[in-house]
Amino acid sequence: MDIKWICNVCGFRDPMYKHYHWSCPICGSPLDIEYKPVYEYGSKGLDRFRGLLPLTPLKFIGEGETKTVVEKLDGTEIMFKLEYMNPSGSFKDRGTTLALSYAYTMGFNEAVEDSSGNTGISVALYSRVYKLRSKIVVPATTSREKKCLIKMLGAELIEVPTRGDASNYVLSLASKAFYVAHTWSPFYIYGASSISFEIYEDYGEPDVVILPVGSGGLLLGVMKGFEILNSLGKILKIPRPIAVEGYSIQPVFKTVKGYEEKGEDSSLAEGIMVPNPPRLNEIKNYIDRYGGDIILVGNSEIIKALEELLELGFVVEPTSATVYAAFKKYKDKLKGLKVLMVLTGSGLKICKEYRVS
Ligand SMILES: [Zn+2]
Repeated sequence: MDIKWICNVCGFRDPMYKHYHWSCPICGSPLDIEYKPVYEYGSKGLDRFRGLLPLTPLKFIGEGETKTVVEKLDGTEIMFKLEYMNPSGSFKDRGTTLALSYAYTMGFNEAVEDSSGNTGISVALYSRVYKLRSKIVVPATTSREKKCLIKMLGAELIEVPTRGDASNYVLSLASKAFYVAHTWSPFYIYGASSISFEIYEDYGEPDVVILPVGSGGLLLGVMKGFEILNSLGKILKIPRPIAVEGYSIQPVFKTVKGYEEKGEDSSLAEGIMVPNPPRLNEIKNYIDRYGGDIILVGNSEIIKALEELLELGFVVEPTSATVYAAFKKYKDKLKGLKVLMVLTGSGLKICKEYRVS
C-alpha cells in the first residue's frame, strides 16, 4: 500500500516508511496519513480492521475488542464502551500499539514521551513489549501511583517541575529517539477509529457519541472511523459528536461558542486539562460539520457521575466520568436515541476518596 505522511495545511507529503515526522517539517502543523481504506479483515485486535487502518500492530497483547454494555437510562439507549479494559487500562493502547509497532519497524531502539497520565503508562508498557528503551518525562505534580507504575513497567522516569517543562525537555531527547507525541500523532487518531469499527460491527451506528476532549485524539479518531465507514457505504449517517471539557480548561468550548463559561473547578478530570490542543481547529470542524455540541462539567458533577457509574459496575477514573456527567445535563435532548459513551480509563490506577463538597 502507498502510505504517506500528509500535511493538510501546506501540502507536504513523504512516504511513511521513509522518514518519521511527529509534526510537519515545513509548517509545523499536525500531520495526517494518506492511504486507501478497504473493508478487509485480519485476525484479532486492531489487525481485525487491517484494511481500514493505515497500519496494524506487529504484536497483539489484548488491545481492542473491548466489551460494550448497553443500558436503557432516562429513555436513552446507552452503549458504554469499556475502554478501560485495555492492557494498560485505557483507550490509549490502541494508538500506542500502532505508534510503537511503527517505531520498531523503523529501527528505533528508544521511545520518549511527555505525559503524566494514561499515555505515559501505555508507552512504558508497549515499549517493553516491543523491546525498546523508554523515557517518560513527567511534571512533579504527577501522582505517586502513576509514577510508580511507569517505573515498574521498566521506563526511565524523568521528573521536571511543570507540564510545560516536560514538553520542552522531551524535545531535547527527540532527535535521537522515537518521540511518540501523542497529542500530535495521527497513530492515536487511527487507533481510536477502531472503536467506531467495533461499535458498527456489533451494534450499527449510534445517533450520538459523547466523548471527553483533552487533546482531542479520541473525538477525532471516533469521528474519522465513522467517516471511513460512511465513505465505504457501510453507514448512511455520521453520529453527532458531543464533546466534554471541564470548566477549568475549556479551549474547545471557547473556540466553538466564542466565549468562556464560568463554573466550578474541574481539576479532578486531569486527563482533559489540555490548554492548547494542537488539533483544535479539526475538533471544531467535526463539531460544526455534524451538528455536535460541547458541554462543560465541574468536580461535584464528576464525583456524582463517578458514584453512579460505580453503581452500574464501571470502575473508571474521574476523567471517564465526565461523559456521564455531561449526559445527565443533556439527557432531555437525547430521549429515544442511541448514544455511545466511551469509558476511557481505569479507576484501578488511582486510590483517592472523593467527596461531594
Ligand atoms: Zn505543513
